[in-house]
Amino acid sequence: MVELSKTVEKLRRAGKGGVIPGPDAFRLYDTYGLPIDFLEELAQDYELTVDREGFERELEGQRERARQSSKMGAVTGDPLYMGLLEKGATQFIGYDSLAHEDAHILAVLKDGQLAARLDEGEAGQIVLDETPFYAQAGGQVGDHGIIAAQGSAADVEDTHQPVPGLYVHDVQVTAGGFESGMAVRVHVDEGLRAGAMRNHTGTHLLHAALRETLGTHVKQAGSLVAPDRLRFDFSHYQGVGPRELTHIQNRVNEQILRNAPVQTRVMGREEALAAGALAFFGDKYGERVRVVEIPGFSKEFCGGTHVRQTGDIGLFLVTAEQGISAGTRRVEALTGEAAITRAREDQGILEELEESAKTDRKGLVDEYAKMREKIRALERERDQLKMRLATGGTGPASGDVQEVGDVQVWTPRFEGLDRKAHAAVVDEYRNKNRNRPFTLVSSSSSDEGVNVISAVSDSLKDRVKAPEILKRLGLRGGGRPDFAQGGGVAAGDVDDLRRKAVEGIRQMLTA
Ligand SMILES: [Zn+2]
Repeated sequence: MVELSKTVEKLRRAGKGGVIPGPDAFRLYDTYGLPIDFLEELAQDYELTVDREGFERELEGQRERARQSSKMGAVTGDPLYMGLLEKGATQFIGYDSLAHEDAHILAVLKDGQLAARLDEGEAGQIVLDETPFYAQAGGQVGDHGIIAAQGSAADVEDTHQPVPGLYVHDVQVTAGGFESGMAVRVHVDEGLRAGAMRNHTGTHLLHAALRETLGTHVKQAGSLVAPDRLRFDFSHYQGVGPRELTHIQNRVNEQILRNAPVQTRVMGREEALAAGALAFFGDKYGERVRVVEIPGFSKEFCGGTHVRQTGDIGLFLVTAEQGISAGTRRVEALTGEAAITRAREDQGILEELEESAKTDRKGLVDEYAKMREKIRALERERDQLKMRLATGGTGPASGDVQEVGDVQVWTPRFEGLDRKAHAAVVDEYRNKNRNRPFTLVSSSSSDEGVNVISAVSDSLKDRVKAPEILKRLGLRGGGRPDFAQGGGVAAGDVDDLRRKAVEGIRQMLTA
């Protein structure tokens, strides 16, 4: 979806009232399968429109090219694979079976070229006439497994369709060798495939639960269906909250517990659309489409492989939800064994926490909150102790305090307290002396230079204002009537400043 975020950038630059050109819209549709309705909705968010006419022109142009090429009996693609396809397409038998005892090699490739033979230790590609191996499509990854013959074996590490109808198996030959025309036994890795099927049906259930919970504006924007996990990207304009996410997960698990049959049917495209089947790639499907239905809950155009009953999924666990670009969210989830393993791991973590906190799991959240509070209190205490160490105690040392009438005038001098720590020390003094009349001029020398604070007790602030004390001492700075902070005095002048401060305050109080 990198392309999508690029487009969003483009939208932003286009500014209000701009138009996304038809060819750009078509490219997103054609290359990335982004439905035009989805793009239009996205554009609306930026107060833009899509050049729908231009888009339709591009679409018609592509249809025309397709008609031309189908008259010539061909689809476009890599000439090497096109040449192979002309000799014969691959029949996919993997919806119903995972093994085939009598497949034939149509071609062997090495280093991207047709080869006579592929021998032990070599990597390459094998094309078969019939195969149960699912080729990567619609988010579902390609199957892995084994191709074997008398004395020969190869691991299939991936399967894909470089041109529609031609199944290419990426292999590593582990014994003997393979050549065109050979009869072979093939076997899909059942465990991996079973995982992919659980996750694929899981994405359909998730898609339906998202639309049911968040609204029908939710449209699939991409997906990954792997044996061990699934990922589903969709259009939605804000984060999915924890309660919604729990509800969505519950809805999927309800469908799993219901153990509904997963029905697949091939039907006319218009008929499928009329029946309410969701299409992701729109026109990219042919006249005949395959529809996967979980009765009463989900119905989608889909060429992927699915479990027979929803109960085969076992368990569905959401592991993450996040935004991946403007208006697009991603949900990650686990099913089957992977979900059970994850649940077991989470349980293990809870047990360890219970053991360490000496409480049961229901008490853990409270216990954690209490611990955080305790840590915060200890940190405050530690900071105060550190401050006392730095200042030799925050109580006024004799000589720092003078009395002017009944008013206490405190002029301490600190070393090494920065502005923040200095303010904290003064605050502590103010809190302790809340009930008596006082004024203070406190100074601290640190790397930042000399910092001066003037403060006045509440009872005095109508008579003497803290910023005025600084001003009278010829310092820069300011603050509230009861607290001001300033600077602009050299370290060597601090003692002189303290004397002047006492004198100044005396004058202000007796004026
Ligand atoms: Zn699907």
